Order: sequence, then C-alpha cells, then structure tokens
Amino acid sequence: MPFTSLGLSPALAQAASDQGYLAPTAVQSAAVPAVLQGHDVLATAQTGSGKTAAYCLPLLQQWLAGRQAAPRQAQTLILLPTRELAAQVGDALRQLSQGLPRRPKVAVVFGGVSINPQMMALRGGADIVAATPGRLLDLLAHNALRLSAVDTLVLDEADRLLDLGFADELSRVLALLPPYRQNLLFSATFPPAVHALAERLLNQPQRIDIAPGDTAAPDIRQRVIEVDAGRRTMLLRHLLQTHGWDRALVFVASRHNADRVAGKLQAAGVRAAALHGDCSQGQRGQVLADLKSGRLQVLVATDVAARGIDIARLPVVINYDLPRSPVDYTHRIGRTGRAGAGGEAVSFVSADCAAHFQLIEKRQRLRLPRERIPGFEPVVAAIPAPGAAADNGGVKGKRKSKKDKLREAAAQAQAEQG
Ligand code: AMP
Repeated sequence: MPFTSLGLSPALAQAASDQGYLAPTAVQSAAVPAVLQGHDVLATAQTGSGKTAAYCLPLLQQWLAGRQAAPRQAQTLILLPTRELAAQVGDALRQLSQGLPRRPKVAVVFGGVSINPQMMALRGGADIVAATPGRLLDLLAHNALRLSAVDTLVLDEADRLLDLGFADELSRVLALLPPYRQNLLFSATFPPAVHALAERLLNQPQRIDIAPGDTAAPDIRQRVIEVDAGRRTMLLRHLLQTHGWDRALVFVASRHNADRVAGKLQAAGVRAAALHGDCSQGQRGQVLADLKSGRLQVLVATDVAARGIDIARLPVVINYDLPRSPVDYTHRIGRTGRAGAGGEAVSFVSADCAAHFQLIEKRQRLRLPRERIPGFEPVVAAIPAPGAAADNGGVKGKRKSKKDKLREAAAQAQAEQG
C-alpha cells in the first residue's frame, strides 16, 4: 500500500520514501488517516513499530496546510519520557521535512543540559516542540514559552512517562493547554494508570491496537541462556566472538555494573563503553554515535540511559542483568529488530534470578527454552525458596507466597534439566 493512499500528500509520501520506507507499517496505516481526519488517537504500539513516523508524517502535513507559530508560542507539543527519545523525535521531524516546500521550526527541549540555548531557540516560537515534562515546566516558569496556542498534543510512550514518575508534571502541563485540541496518545502497554490518563485526556479517540506481531519489528528471536552469575562476562565475550555481532547493546542493573562490565570488556580488548545516568549529555551522544558508526562494538547500559535510543541495525540485545519488570523487558528487546530487520534478544539467567525470569515469561505469556553453552554450564543450583518445605518440614506458620512457589518450580525445572 503506498503512503499516498493514507491521505498523505505527494510531498510527505516522498519524505517517507526518502527515508527508505517502502510501505507503511501497521501503526502508520491506522494512525495516519485518523490523525489527518482530526481524530484523537489512542494507539497501542511497541517501540520499533514505526510509531514516530505514524504521528510525525500527518502532523507535518497538517502544519504545511496551516499557520506558523507566533513568538514564544508552540503549536504542536510532543511530550516524551527521555531526552534520547525527544532528540530522536526531533531528528525524525527534521529528516522527514527535508524535502518539503517549507520546514517547520522544531524545538527539542530536555533537562540535563543548559536551559539558556533552549530559551533562545524558543524566542521566535516553535511550530513543533518535543519536550520532556520537567524541562518544559522549567521553560514555562522562565516565560520562555506559552502553551495557549497548542492545537495538537502528542504523548509518546505514555506508559514510560508515568513509570518514570512524571504524573504530576503531566497534570501541570495539561492544565496549561487550551481545552480544544487534538490529542494523540501512544503507549506500548496499557496499565490502569495509562487508561485513566487516556480517559481524562482523549475525546472519542480512534482506538488503534497493533499486536506485537503486526509491528515493523516482529522478528526478534528471544533466547535464554543459563549461566552462573560469576561467568557472565566470559560468556558475553564468547558469544561476541562466536556470533559475529558487529554491535551489541548489553543491559545491566546499575551504573556500577555498567562501568564494571564495560571495563572488563575493554581489558579483554573489546571496543566497549558504558552508558548510564552519570554520563553527561555529551558523553551519551558520543557513545551512541560511536556505536552507530561501528567505532564501538558493545554498549553496556542501564535502563534509564538506554530508554528510547534507536540504533539502526542493532543485531542483538543482551540482558546481562535481568530487567526489573516485564515492561522493561519489552522495551529492552525492542531496541533490536527495529522496523523489520531481524534481531536477537539474549537473557542471561543464573540460579538467583531464575524465578524472576519465570515471572517475566508469565506476564509476557511466553515460555522460552533454556540453553546452555558448552563450557559455560551452570554449577550453582537454584537458591531454595525461603520457607519451602525442606527436610525440616517447612517453617511453621509461614505460608508459601506465589513467588516462593515459582522459585521452587524453577529450581525443580532446573534440576530436571540438569
Ligand atoms: P519507531 O517505532 O518510531 O521507534 O521506529 C523504529 C524504526 O523504524 C526507525 O528507525 C524508523 O526510521 C523505522 N521506520 C519507521 N517507519 C518505517 C517504514 N514504514 N518502513 C521501514 N522502516 C520504518
């Protein structure tokens, strides 16, 4: 199906094809006409589904047909959970508007960098502002921007916005917007908090549900490798050598681990770097550029730092430490297999986190086969569940929790396999 059949003008269809998009993804096919018709939209779309272009293309078309921003005013406001995502949306807008008869003024604002250049950039107003909520409020407090002319609001990765504790900031921003506007809400998952937000915000929205299998990135091979915690770095090096991955994103649970694992890889001659919340904006930009260009092979990152990053042709994501939640798992693995390219997501599971991984599988309605790599077979047995009926007959008065039962099941499954 060509992009023009979605109602996009030849100029915007050309912009999509200039990006190498051969055909619309599922979320684009559904969202573009709905946005162009002026509907509010409530879309479930995973990262990697092409959701950014699904709203950027029609927004650019609407802007081309309409007026330009007045000083210190924004017309379209896009709220995003992280600076990386904000920067990426800014890039997408700039790229998609390259060949247009005129280009919108796009302002990207996020915290962690000096506010002054952002204030300067907003002086003449901005047609489209892509912002993280905290910095947006700072700019409003400095009178650098007014929201009274916003006619379109986009909440992208709404679940992350709420997960990251932006609920208050969001409410404060929403209170400053004019009542009549078009609202688009995109979210990978729909926990009750996102439902409540959607109810409050959207006016008879068109509901778009893109099943993960319909996304542009269905082809992620998920693998689970059992390994002792102390041998994960060795296994990582082994996999890098044997799989020929030219770049890899490795997730760890803490800043300390990011530095430690990256340091060990460097010491072993691997081109690796760490990415975490202590990195300056400049460092983040640099390591991402280095990974994209191939100067780096491995980026060892924490969840917060890696959220929203888009690395083209990333063949593999490795969960060195497991994510805390199933939602984080979805986000992590969505960094590979972007827009139709295949990818692998490998999770290292050691005895102490086997039960936790089972919980993730349960929520994802998955059951993945456990692999063992010759030479790296685990020797540490699963930790017995606290209060489990051991030889002593169990602890009197303590009922097994659901987690305890899962831990036991995991230990038993492991014993059977081994
Ligand atoms: P997103 O889900 O917006 O993060 O997009 C993920 C990736 O898909 C980005 O690298 C986009 O450039 C790419 N993409 C978006 N739309 C298409 C399309 N129609 N065909 C191929 N790739 C696309």
